[in-house]
Amino acid sequence: MADSVLITDIQRFSVNDGPGFRTNVYLKGCPLRCQWCHNPETISAVPELYWKKRLCVQCGACLEACPRDAIRPPIPPEEARQETSTYHKIVRDRCDLCMKCVDACLYGALEVVGRPMSIEKILDEVEEDRPFYDNSGGGMTLSGGEPSAHAEFSRRLLEQAKARALHVCLDTNGYCEWEVLKSLIEHVDIVLFDLKHIDPARHKERTGVSNERIIENLGLLAETGQPTWVRIPVVPGFNDSVEFHTAAANLLANMERGIVRVDLLPFHNWCQDKYGWLGLEWTLRDVEAMDPVFLEIPADLYRNKGLETTIGGSGFESSEQALDG
Ligand code: SF4
Ligand code: SF4
Repeated sequence: MADSVLITDIQRFSVNDGPGFRTNVYLKGCPLRCQWCHNPETISAVPELYWKKRLCVQCGACLEACPRDAIRPPIPPEEARQETSTYHKIVRDRCDLCMKCVDACLYGALEVVGRPMSIEKILDEVEEDRPFYDNSGGGMTLSGGEPSAHAEFSRRLLEQAKARALHVCLDTNGYCEWEVLKSLIEHVDIVLFDLKHIDPARHKERTGVSNERIIENLGLLAETGQPTWVRIPVVPGFNDSVEFHTAAANLLANMERGIVRVDLLPFHNWCQDKYGWLGLEWTLRDVEAMDPVFLEIPADLYRNKGLETTIGGSGFESSEQALDG
Protein backbone atom coordinates (compact mmCIF):
# COMPACT_ATOMS: atom_id res chain seq x y z
CA MET A 1 0.00 0.00 0.00
CA ALA A 2 1.17 3.50 -0.77
CA ASP A 3 2.52 5.35 2.27
CA SER A 4 1.00 8.55 1.00
CA VAL A 5 -1.57 9.80 -1.49
CA LEU A 6 -2.03 13.13 -3.18
CA ILE A 7 -4.20 15.59 -1.27
CA THR A 8 -5.53 18.71 -2.99
CA ASP A 9 -6.73 20.41 0.18
CA ILE A 10 -7.48 19.99 3.86
CA GLN A 11 -10.36 22.40 4.35
CA ARG A 12 -11.23 23.47 7.88
CA PHE A 13 -14.56 24.64 9.31
CA SER A 14 -16.76 23.14 6.62
CA VAL A 15 -20.43 23.21 7.65
CA ASN A 16 -22.01 21.35 4.73
CA ASP A 17 -20.29 17.98 4.71
CA GLY A 18 -21.67 16.17 7.72
CA PRO A 19 -22.72 17.26 11.20
CA GLY A 20 -21.07 20.17 13.01
CA PHE A 21 -17.76 21.77 12.07
CA ARG A 22 -15.76 19.47 9.86
CA THR A 23 -12.33 19.21 8.35
CA ASN A 24 -12.60 17.92 4.79
CA VAL A 25 -9.73 15.90 3.37
CA TYR A 26 -9.77 15.96 -0.42
CA LEU A 27 -8.00 13.06 -2.14
CA LYS A 28 -6.91 13.47 -5.74
CA GLY A 29 -8.27 11.07 -8.36
CA CYS A 30 -11.83 10.18 -9.44
CA PRO A 31 -13.23 7.68 -11.98
CA LEU A 32 -16.18 9.95 -12.87
CA ARG A 33 -16.19 13.01 -15.11
CA CYS A 34 -19.20 14.97 -13.86
CA GLN A 35 -19.67 18.03 -16.05
CA TRP A 36 -20.62 20.19 -13.05
CA CYS A 37 -17.68 19.06 -10.90
CA HIS A 38 -16.91 21.81 -8.39
CA ASN A 39 -13.48 20.46 -7.60
CA PRO A 40 -11.92 19.82 -11.03
CA GLU A 41 -8.47 19.70 -9.44
CA THR A 42 -9.46 16.43 -7.73
CA ILE A 43 -10.33 14.57 -10.94
CA SER A 44 -6.86 13.69 -12.19
CA ALA A 45 -4.84 11.37 -9.96
CA VAL A 46 -1.52 13.06 -10.79
CA PRO A 47 -0.14 16.45 -9.70
CA GLU A 48 -1.23 19.44 -11.76
CA LEU A 49 -0.22 23.02 -12.27
CA TYR A 50 -2.38 26.04 -11.44
CA TRP A 51 -1.66 29.32 -13.18
CA LYS A 52 -3.47 32.18 -11.47
CA LYS A 53 -3.60 34.91 -14.04
CA ARG A 54 -4.59 37.65 -11.60
CA LEU A 55 -1.36 37.11 -9.60
CA CYS A 56 0.92 37.00 -12.64
CA VAL A 57 2.96 40.18 -13.22
CA GLN A 58 4.35 38.81 -16.47
CA CYS A 59 7.95 38.93 -15.24
CA GLY A 60 8.95 36.04 -17.51
CA ALA A 61 10.92 34.11 -14.84
CA CYS A 62 8.89 30.94 -15.40
CA LEU A 63 9.57 31.00 -19.11
CA GLU A 64 13.28 31.10 -18.51
CA ALA A 65 13.08 28.34 -15.88
CA CYS A 66 11.10 25.90 -18.00
CA PRO A 67 13.39 23.27 -19.53
CA ARG A 68 10.73 22.06 -21.97
CA ASP A 69 9.72 25.29 -23.59
CA ALA A 70 6.23 24.61 -22.26
CA ILE A 71 5.42 28.20 -21.27
CA ARG A 72 5.09 30.37 -24.28
CA PRO A 73 4.48 34.01 -24.74
CA PRO A 74 3.62 35.12 -28.25
CA ILE A 75 6.35 37.76 -27.86
CA PRO A 76 9.67 37.69 -25.95
CA PRO A 77 9.41 38.10 -22.14
CA GLU A 78 11.12 41.53 -22.15
CA GLU A 79 8.45 42.88 -24.45
CA ALA A 80 5.71 40.99 -22.70
CA ARG A 81 6.48 42.89 -19.50
CA GLN A 82 5.09 45.96 -21.22
CA GLU A 83 1.98 44.09 -22.29
CA THR A 84 -1.20 44.53 -20.36
CA SER A 85 -3.04 41.71 -22.10
CA THR A 86 -2.42 38.09 -21.24
CA TYR A 87 0.52 36.52 -22.99
CA HIS A 88 1.40 33.69 -20.71
CA LYS A 89 0.34 30.23 -21.87
CA ILE A 90 1.22 26.85 -20.46
CA VAL A 91 1.29 24.31 -23.26
CA ARG A 92 0.03 21.46 -21.14
CA ASP A 93 0.96 18.66 -23.51
CA ARG A 94 4.61 19.73 -23.46
CA CYS A 95 4.74 20.09 -19.68
CA ASP A 96 6.23 17.16 -17.73
CA LEU A 97 5.26 18.63 -14.33
CA CYS A 98 8.86 19.19 -13.22
CA MET A 99 7.53 22.22 -11.30
CA LYS A 100 10.68 24.30 -11.90
CA CYS A 101 8.45 27.19 -12.94
CA VAL A 102 6.67 27.08 -9.56
CA ASP A 103 9.99 27.59 -7.75
CA ALA A 104 10.90 30.39 -10.15
CA CYS A 105 7.69 32.38 -9.67
CA LEU A 106 8.08 34.89 -6.85
CA TYR A 107 4.45 36.01 -7.03
CA GLY A 108 2.60 32.83 -6.17
CA ALA A 109 0.97 32.71 -9.60
CA LEU A 110 2.04 29.13 -10.21
CA GLU A 111 1.10 26.41 -7.80
CA VAL A 112 1.40 22.64 -7.59
CA VAL A 113 -1.98 20.98 -7.04
CA GLY A 114 -1.66 17.71 -5.17
CA ARG A 115 0.78 17.18 -2.32
CA PRO A 116 1.64 13.71 -1.03
CA MET A 117 0.65 13.22 2.61
CA SER A 118 0.87 10.26 4.95
CA ILE A 119 -2.00 9.10 7.14
CA GLU A 120 -0.25 10.38 10.24
CA LYS A 121 0.33 13.84 8.77
CA ILE A 122 -3.29 14.10 7.60
CA LEU A 123 -4.67 13.11 10.98
CA ASP A 124 -2.29 15.36 12.89
CA GLU A 125 -3.60 18.28 10.82
CA VAL A 126 -7.21 17.22 11.27
CA GLU A 127 -6.77 16.94 15.03
CA GLU A 128 -5.76 20.60 15.31
CA ASP A 129 -9.47 21.49 15.35
CA ARG A 130 -10.58 18.89 17.87
CA PRO A 131 -12.06 21.50 20.27
CA PHE A 132 -14.40 22.67 17.51
CA TYR A 133 -15.50 19.09 16.79
CA ASP A 134 -16.16 18.43 20.45
CA ASN A 135 -18.39 21.49 20.75
CA SER A 136 -20.33 20.97 17.52
CA GLY A 137 -20.51 17.21 16.96
CA GLY A 138 -18.14 17.61 14.02
CA GLY A 139 -15.08 15.73 12.86
CA MET A 140 -13.30 14.62 9.69
CA THR A 141 -14.93 14.09 6.28
CA LEU A 142 -12.93 12.05 3.78
CA SER A 143 -13.77 13.31 0.31
CA GLY A 144 -12.29 13.76 -3.12
CA GLY A 145 -11.98 12.98 -5.87
CA GLU A 146 -13.12 9.58 -4.77
CA PRO A 147 -11.84 7.89 -1.60
CA SER A 148 -12.67 4.41 -2.91
CA ALA A 149 -10.23 5.00 -5.78
CA HIS A 150 -7.51 4.75 -3.08
CA ALA A 151 -9.22 1.90 -1.29
CA GLU A 152 -6.53 0.57 1.01
CA PHE A 153 -5.14 3.98 1.95
CA SER A 154 -8.64 5.29 2.63
CA ARG A 155 -9.53 2.25 4.71
CA ARG A 156 -6.49 2.68 6.93
CA LEU A 157 -7.00 6.43 7.18
CA LEU A 158 -10.61 5.95 8.30
CA GLU A 159 -9.63 3.18 10.71
CA GLN A 160 -6.92 5.31 12.30
CA ALA A 161 -9.22 8.32 12.50
CA LYS A 162 -11.68 6.21 14.50
CA ALA A 163 -8.79 4.97 16.66
CA ARG A 164 -8.17 8.65 17.50
CA ALA A 165 -11.84 8.93 18.51
CA LEU A 166 -12.75 11.30 15.67
CA HIS A 167 -16.27 11.46 14.26
CA VAL A 168 -15.82 10.36 10.65
CA CYS A 169 -17.85 10.85 7.47
CA LEU A 170 -17.07 9.27 4.10
CA ASP A 171 -18.13 11.27 1.04
CA THR A 172 -18.38 8.89 -1.93
CA ASN A 173 -19.81 8.70 -5.43
CA GLY A 174 -20.45 4.99 -4.83
CA TYR A 175 -18.74 3.91 -8.04
CA CYS A 176 -16.66 0.97 -6.84
CA GLU A 177 -16.91 -2.71 -6.02
CA TRP A 178 -19.30 -3.32 -3.11
CA GLU A 179 -16.54 -5.12 -1.21
CA VAL A 180 -14.44 -1.95 -1.35
CA LEU A 181 -17.27 0.25 -0.11
CA LYS A 182 -18.07 -2.29 2.60
CA SER A 183 -14.46 -2.24 3.83
CA LEU A 184 -14.62 1.55 4.13
CA ILE A 185 -17.99 1.99 5.82
CA GLU A 186 -16.94 -0.23 8.72
CA HIS A 187 -14.87 2.69 9.97
CA VAL A 188 -17.24 5.62 9.51
CA ASP A 189 -20.13 7.18 11.40
CA ILE A 190 -22.05 8.59 8.43
CA VAL A 191 -21.79 7.95 4.69
CA LEU A 192 -22.46 10.92 2.40
CA PHE A 193 -23.53 9.21 -0.83
CA ASP A 194 -23.89 11.12 -4.11
CA LEU A 195 -26.89 10.36 -6.31
CA LYS A 196 -26.88 12.13 -9.64
CA HIS A 197 -29.49 10.53 -11.84
CA ILE A 198 -31.81 7.54 -11.91
CA ASP A 199 -31.59 6.98 -15.66
CA PRO A 200 -28.41 5.08 -16.69
CA ALA A 201 -28.11 6.73 -20.11
CA ARG A 202 -28.55 10.27 -18.73
CA HIS A 203 -26.07 9.47 -15.98
CA LYS A 204 -23.48 8.24 -18.46
CA GLU A 205 -23.99 11.21 -20.73
CA ARG A 206 -23.06 13.72 -17.99
CA THR A 207 -20.66 11.75 -15.75
CA GLY A 208 -18.93 9.36 -18.16
CA VAL A 209 -20.21 6.22 -16.42
CA SER A 210 -23.50 4.38 -16.05
CA ASN A 211 -25.21 4.37 -12.66
CA GLU A 212 -26.16 0.70 -12.23
CA ARG A 213 -23.31 -0.09 -9.87
CA ILE A 214 -23.91 3.13 -7.91
CA ILE A 215 -27.61 2.43 -7.34
CA GLU A 216 -26.90 -1.19 -6.46
CA ASN A 217 -24.31 -0.08 -3.90
CA LEU A 218 -26.73 2.45 -2.44
CA GLY A 219 -29.29 -0.32 -1.96
CA LEU A 220 -26.73 -2.61 -0.30
CA LEU A 221 -25.55 0.25 1.88
CA ALA A 222 -29.08 1.04 3.01
CA GLU A 223 -29.64 -2.62 3.91
CA THR A 224 -26.67 -2.54 6.29
CA GLY A 225 -28.40 0.14 8.36
CA GLN A 226 -25.32 2.39 8.08
CA PRO A 227 -26.50 6.00 8.58
CA THR A 228 -26.43 7.56 5.12
CA TRP A 229 -27.09 11.06 3.85
CA VAL A 230 -27.92 10.95 0.14
CA ARG A 231 -26.63 14.06 -1.59
CA ILE A 232 -28.12 15.14 -4.88
CA PRO A 233 -26.31 17.92 -6.76
CA VAL A 234 -29.19 19.54 -8.62
CA VAL A 235 -28.03 20.74 -12.04
CA PRO A 236 -30.25 22.81 -14.36
CA GLY A 237 -31.32 20.87 -17.43
CA PHE A 238 -30.05 17.58 -16.01
CA ASN A 239 -31.87 16.56 -12.84
CA ASP A 240 -34.04 19.53 -11.90
CA SER A 241 -37.35 18.14 -13.16
CA VAL A 242 -40.28 17.06 -11.00
CA GLU A 243 -40.16 13.69 -12.81
CA PHE A 244 -36.60 13.06 -11.73
CA HIS A 245 -37.21 14.04 -8.09
CA THR A 246 -40.41 12.00 -7.92
CA ALA A 247 -38.52 8.93 -9.19
CA ALA A 248 -35.59 9.56 -6.82
CA ALA A 249 -37.90 10.04 -3.84
CA ASN A 250 -39.67 6.75 -4.66
CA LEU A 251 -36.36 4.94 -5.00
CA LEU A 252 -35.01 6.23 -1.68
CA ALA A 253 -38.25 5.73 0.21
CA ASN A 254 -38.27 2.09 -0.84
CA MET A 255 -34.75 1.47 0.39
CA GLU A 256 -34.28 -0.08 3.79
CA ARG A 257 -33.13 1.34 7.08
CA GLY A 258 -29.94 3.33 6.51
CA ILE A 259 -31.06 6.43 4.63
CA VAL A 260 -31.60 9.04 7.25
CA ARG A 261 -31.65 12.19 5.18
CA VAL A 262 -31.53 13.69 1.70
CA ASP A 263 -29.56 16.84 0.85
CA LEU A 264 -30.47 18.75 -2.29
CA LEU A 265 -27.43 20.78 -3.33
CA PRO A 266 -28.23 23.66 -5.71
CA PHE A 267 -25.87 24.11 -8.66
CA HIS A 268 -23.40 26.97 -8.28
CA ASN A 269 -20.56 28.26 -10.40
CA TRP A 270 -18.02 29.34 -7.78
CA CYS A 271 -15.52 26.89 -9.26
CA GLN A 272 -15.07 28.73 -12.56
CA ASP A 273 -11.68 30.11 -11.57
CA LYS A 274 -10.30 26.66 -10.88
CA TYR A 275 -11.09 25.50 -14.42
CA GLY A 276 -9.22 28.52 -15.76
CA TRP A 277 -6.23 27.93 -13.44
CA LEU A 278 -5.98 24.36 -14.78
CA GLY A 279 -6.29 25.49 -18.39
CA LEU A 280 -9.61 23.63 -18.77
CA GLU A 281 -12.81 24.66 -20.48
CA TRP A 282 -15.88 24.41 -18.25
CA THR A 283 -18.86 23.44 -20.37
CA LEU A 284 -21.33 24.78 -17.77
CA ARG A 285 -19.64 28.18 -17.57
CA ASP A 286 -22.70 30.03 -18.81
CA VAL A 287 -25.22 28.19 -16.62
CA GLU A 288 -26.53 30.46 -13.88
CA ALA A 289 -26.27 29.50 -10.22
CA MET A 290 -29.53 28.03 -8.95
CA ASP A 291 -31.61 29.93 -6.43
CA PRO A 292 -32.19 27.49 -3.52
CA VAL A 293 -35.80 28.63 -3.35
CA PHE A 294 -36.47 26.61 -6.52
CA LEU A 295 -35.69 23.46 -4.59
CA GLU A 296 -38.57 23.88 -2.13
CA ILE A 297 -41.01 21.95 -4.34
CA PRO A 298 -38.58 19.06 -5.04
CA ALA A 299 -37.71 18.96 -1.31
CA ASP A 300 -41.38 18.44 -0.48
CA LEU A 301 -41.46 15.40 -2.79
CA TYR A 302 -38.89 13.72 -0.54
CA ARG A 303 -40.47 14.98 2.69
CA ASN A 304 -43.85 13.63 1.59
CA LYS A 305 -42.22 10.21 1.44
CA GLY A 306 -41.06 10.56 5.04
CA LEU A 307 -37.46 11.45 4.17
CA GLU A 308 -35.79 14.22 6.17
CA THR A 309 -34.58 16.65 3.51
CA THR A 310 -32.40 19.76 3.47
CA ILE A 311 -31.62 22.30 0.82
CA GLY A 312 -27.89 22.97 0.89
CA GLY A 313 -26.88 20.17 3.25
CA SER A 314 -26.06 22.18 6.37
CA GLY A 315 -24.59 20.15 9.18
CA PHE A 316 -26.33 22.38 11.75
CA GLU A 317 -30.00 22.33 12.57
CA SER A 318 -30.02 26.14 12.75
CA SER A 319 -27.60 28.99 12.19
CA GLU A 320 -27.76 29.72 15.95
CA GLN A 321 -26.45 26.24 16.61
CA ALA A 322 -23.52 26.89 14.23
CA LEU A 323 -22.67 30.10 16.07
CA ASP A 324 -22.90 28.37 19.43
CA GLY A 325 -20.81 25.47 18.15
S1 SF4 B 1 6.17 22.27 -14.68
FE1 SF4 B 1 8.19 22.17 -15.67
S2 SF4 B 1 7.72 21.59 -17.79
FE2 SF4 B 1 5.80 22.26 -16.87
S3 SF4 B 1 5.61 24.40 -17.42
FE3 SF4 B 1 6.58 24.32 -15.39
S4 SF4 B 1 8.82 24.32 -15.76
FE4 SF4 B 1 7.78 23.83 -17.70
S1 SF4 C 1 7.12 33.73 -12.96
FE1 SF4 C 1 5.05 33.99 -12.08
S2 SF4 C 1 4.63 36.19 -12.22
FE2 SF4 C 1 6.37 35.76 -13.58
S3 SF4 C 1 5.42 35.39 -15.60
FE3 SF4 C 1 5.63 33.39 -14.62
S4 SF4 C 1 3.64 33.07 -13.58
FE4 SF4 C 1 3.78 35.25 -14.08
